[in-house]
Amino acid sequence: MENRALKFKNNNNAELTTDDSSINILAKIRQIMSKDISGVQKLLEILKTTKNHLNADAIACYGLMDSNIYNLISKSGYDIGYPEITDWSKGQGIIGNTVVNAVPISLTDKSKSIYYSDAEESKYTSLCAVPITRGSVIIGVLVIENLKATDYSDEVIEILQTVSMLLAELLVASDLIHRHVLETHKNISKNPYNLDGKILSQGLGIGNALFHETVLSVSNIFVEDSDLEKERLKSAINKMNIALSRLLRRVTGETKDILEAYQMLSQDLGWINKIKKKIDLGLSSEAAIQRVQNETRLKMLKITDPYIRERLTDFEDVSNRLLTYLTKDDNKKSDSNDDVILIARSLGPAALLDYDLKSIKGIILEGGNQSNHVSIVAKSFDIPVLGQCENIRNHVSNNDKVILDAHQGIAFIRPSDDTVELFEKELLEKIEIKNRYRDVLNKPAVTKDGMRIYININAGLAVDMQVFNDVNADGIGLFRTEFAFMGWSKYPSVAVQTDFYKNILQKSNDKHVTFRTLDIGGDKPLPYFKNPTEDNPALGWRAVRIGLDRPALFKTQFRALIRAAAGEDLKLMLPMVADVEELIQAKKLFEIERLKSLELGFAPPKSIKFGVMLEVPSLIFQMDKLLKNVDFISIGTNDLMQYLFAADRGNYNIKKRYDCLSPAMLSVLIEIKKKCDAVSMPVTVCGEMASNVIDAMALVSLGFNSISINPKAAVKIKLMVNSLDVNIMKPYINHLINSGENNIREELKAFALDHNVNILAYSK
Ligand code: PEP
Ligand code: MG
Repeated sequence: MENRALKFKNNNNAELTTDDSSINILAKIRQIMSKDISGVQKLLEILKTTKNHLNADAIACYGLMDSNIYNLISKSGYDIGYPEITDWSKGQGIIGNTVVNAVPISLTDKSKSIYYSDAEESKYTSLCAVPITRGSVIIGVLVIENLKATDYSDEVIEILQTVSMLLAELLVASDLIHRHVLETHKNISKNPYNLDGKILSQGLGIGNALFHETVLSVSNIFVEDSDLEKERLKSAINKMNIALSRLLRRVTGETKDILEAYQMLSQDLGWINKIKKKIDLGLSSEAAIQRVQNETRLKMLKITDPYIRERLTDFEDVSNRLLTYLTKDDNKKSDSNDDVILIARSLGPAALLDYDLKSIKGIILEGGNQSNHVSIVAKSFDIPVLGQCENIRNHVSNNDKVILDAHQGIAFIRPSDDTVELFEKELLEKIEIKNRYRDVLNKPAVTKDGMRIYININAGLAVDMQVFNDVNADGIGLFRTEFAFMGWSKYPSVAVQTDFYKNILQKSNDKHVTFRTLDIGGDKPLPYFKNPTEDNPALGWRAVRIGLDRPALFKTQFRALIRAAAGEDLKLMLPMVADVEELIQAKKLFEIERLKSLELGFAPPKSIKFGVMLEVPSLIFQMDKLLKNVDFISIGTNDLMQYLFAADRGNYNIKKRYDCLSPAMLSVLIEIKKKCDAVSMPVTVCGEMASNVIDAMALVSLGFNSISINPKAAVKIKLMVNSLDVNIMKPYINHLINSGENNIREELKAFALDHNVNILAYSK
């Protein structure tokens, strides 16, 4: 459920707090639960007790009767005939909105609330409503009302939440709601449905939908012996930690860093003590964990800092994990030979590793972003991930066939047989290409007419170095340093960064690595770095702009890079430079760090090369000055396209509208190449364009002899290069460009096929 703040207070009102401690109400409710009376009677007694305990004037319990309707089940304190309206649908009035928002709503003056409906009982001024949740379904709402204006304290909300947890069990056990409402994923169409999402880890996967359910319903709420219960808790924590240590032995690189930070959370004494305190109130371990989880969620409502929110999310994951260890000895998901597309509201990194990863062909998340730990871990295991698929639950049932195309950012749900066949063919083709043409990777890429093309790869994590060696690339043309920063749980020290870069250089086998300085902000948020809310983040405070405004950030990264490259070649470049002055300022900071390093006695790099990413069009108009201040240029076509065409690179609706092989982009590329050639400046293309066979063929024909690509494209790009005769293609492409064609893609494709250029693996 979404965690959002819905507390509406007026000043000048007395806070409603309780006069008894929580322990008293729990004891009273426990007594009621053990009475030999009907469920209806128990419910009424619990409501009366709660109302009195909280000094409320009225209380009511609503329950889910049909897929959308919440009916009044029981009440106390209202006049006869009230509340007048006894049925609320989802999103209707305050009750319906408590369901939709899935968090407590407390209102000092309910008539002023945006959720207020005229049909509400208006004699009462204040109201506090909490959802009654079982598993992942909101099965009811518990509401208290007061005649006088009242501010409800956190303690009151907390008690209502505890009572609602008890009511969830009572409503189900006593058949006070219809059991069929507990079935989720019903009424889902059987027709094909396509859903767009944000690509968090690229790839293609086909499998059957499997919901990762984290929310367990807690049935034993009270315990007799708190000491014994604390022992039970301790044993579950131990089991969880032993399993985490076991997991840690299986992983390396970023995944290990992430899991280590996660393990520290699971041993956090503050968190464990909070749970123990709830157990002292008479709650079971499960109920206590869920109560602390609810408190954390409420806290999240008030926090905007992304780093703290990420940590709180991790606590949520650890809590879910601990809940499973209270009932089972391990958390291992049953091994299955079936190919699975995992669907989750949110998924912790450790939770992902509980699955048999061989069978996980993709992950679809309702939320998620690139800096989420699960995205990083999935990427390191080459599992495609699609995020921000908010409504996925309304469109897919367990076992539905799903094609996850995390190249295009689409999930095809219940696709037609033809679509499945098409994608299966593509998958097979990819595997076949990989196996059949492996030997092309061992040889350098040279065109038929002898032009040596340098095929570098784009990387960003330590795990990428294995792939780097597998594809035998000429170097790393773009090392996105921010990826590792996304995996760290806090801003890394110089020592941590130095070790990381040193490890990358060591694994590069003396091939060149171009480190790009932090490209954060925009579409790449760092959990622990506070970014202001911006209307246009892609045009906002990001990358080099942040580095110059927060020089400590730049300096520590420069310091670490200089130290890591002791005795080696250091190549670094700046992202998002829009004005050459930014480059000059950054170079000054670099120089300060270089001299300081020497002064401190650190061995200097063997050579230093400083470049920029050319991805903001304004640089094209400063080429002369730019070329005097750099050692190389790398063209970032992803952002260059975005800024050239004013088209958000992540927006699927406009993704296909503008093509790299259109006159505007091609003229820009030709112009840059011409200017670079005039002064013998090395220039590489490192955006996604270079990973596409037809586009790469165009680039090579235009004279680009160095590209940096997604390693997955290495085989097909090399096959194309080895079969291309630039002497034949070059005049043709120039002719096409001069002929004023709007898009030369189709013509290039046809020409290539006619001239036996191997473009069979082209992806567009
Ligand atoms: C680009 O913009 O083309 C690029 C390679 O950088 P990134 O995709 O990391 O923004
Ligand atoms: Mg970029």
